[in-house]
Amino acid sequence: MTDTKLSFAKFADKYKLLMSQENEHVKCLIIGSGPAGYTAAIYASRADLKPVMYTGLLAGGQLTQTTEVENYPGYPNGIMGPEMMEDFRKQAERLGTDIRYGYVSSVDFSSLPHKVVVDDIKTILADTVIISTGASAKWLGLDSEQKYSGFGVSACAVCDGFFFKGQDVAIVGAGDTAAEEATYLAKLCRKVYMIVRRDEFRASKAMVSRVLNTANIEILYDSETKEIVGDGQSVTGVTVINNKTNETKTLDVTGFFVAIGHKPNTDIFRGWIHMDETGYIKTTPGSTTTNIEGVFCCGDAQDHIYRQAVTAAGTGCMAAIDAERYLAAKEHIVTA
Ligand SMILES: Cc1cc2nc3c(=O)[nH]c(=O)nc-3n(C[C@H](O)[C@H](O)[C@H](O)COP(=O)(O)OP(=O)(O)OC[C@H]3O[C@@H](n4cnc5c(N)ncnc54)[C@H](O)[C@@H]3O)c2cc1C
Repeated sequence: MTDTKLSFAKFADKYKLLMSQENEHVKCLIIGSGPAGYTAAIYASRADLKPVMYTGLLAGGQLTQTTEVENYPGYPNGIMGPEMMEDFRKQAERLGTDIRYGYVSSVDFSSLPHKVVVDDIKTILADTVIISTGASAKWLGLDSEQKYSGFGVSACAVCDGFFFKGQDVAIVGAGDTAAEEATYLAKLCRKVYMIVRRDEFRASKAMVSRVLNTANIEILYDSETKEIVGDGQSVTGVTVINNKTNETKTLDVTGFFVAIGHKPNTDIFRGWIHMDETGYIKTTPGSTTTNIEGVFCCGDAQDHIYRQAVTAAGTGCMAAIDAERYLAAKEHIVTA
């Protein structure tokens, strides 16, 4: 057989397989494989919901992009992010979660069961859907930022500030989160340079006042990050340019924090699920229920405040319990 015929035969086989599985009906579908999704999977498996999980493009979620995690309970010596997520995966798999590589490309929540399309091809009918698609930190887009990510460059002061105790660091951003993270870092670090693109903040007056009243924060207005400097192993400085005077200078810092915002991975749910203006999914306070019956949301996709692995895992647990109780109540109505 020629190469073309061979690849066509392979494609036809894959297509037949997918079609034979079309309209597969599941009790519980979990979208996303970060701490929230895996925790939901662990609880849903143990509740006999036989969950099916689609991992998305970043199997294991955001923590696979970092190095050491020191604040997740149960790891007394800390653990590398990718290794921790491998532990989560193994636990979910051992308890029976059907974990599949695939990306949810669209959903139709107009009727029950819910329709979820994977990789634009396969449709799954789901009695309950747990959304745990997380959020993505926004980055500046510099090569040096990528090079030193996890080696001095971070998008989370609460997660990584501790590693820079007593050292000098820089943070870029001008909104409420940046202001909050700068003051958090100022308590741990010797000096914090705050790089602000314009001649003013976007943060609220109260947050700006906190920054201005913190002695060890130095604000560099009208400034942009040109390059993150390192010795090949870790960050040793950051070069900034003043966009009014064109003057450049290199700050001697060992940590560089990017606090220019996050984008929740929720575009595919737009039009169905209620969200705030940034795209964070709205859940009923104290639960994971959304405006759609049988659809629950957990983790960073609905949390713009805490954004931690342990809070994501906590809400993942809540989502599985909410899904189980929803199904149990429905079954009760049907059999009563
Ligand atoms: C650099 C860095 C360091 C951090 N360090 C720490 C730390 O030390 N301690 C800490 O507690 N927190 C830390 N965090 C924060 C922590 O990673 C997040 O709070 C946590 O991962 C959120 O979990 P989640 O399950 O909600 O989402 P995520 O971890 O973001 O996972 C989302 C999942 O959804 C999947 N997905 C997205 N869209 C789709 C789709 N359409 N179809 C299928 N799947 C989809 C993705 O592939 C991914 O698997 C850090 C974050 C970053 C960026």
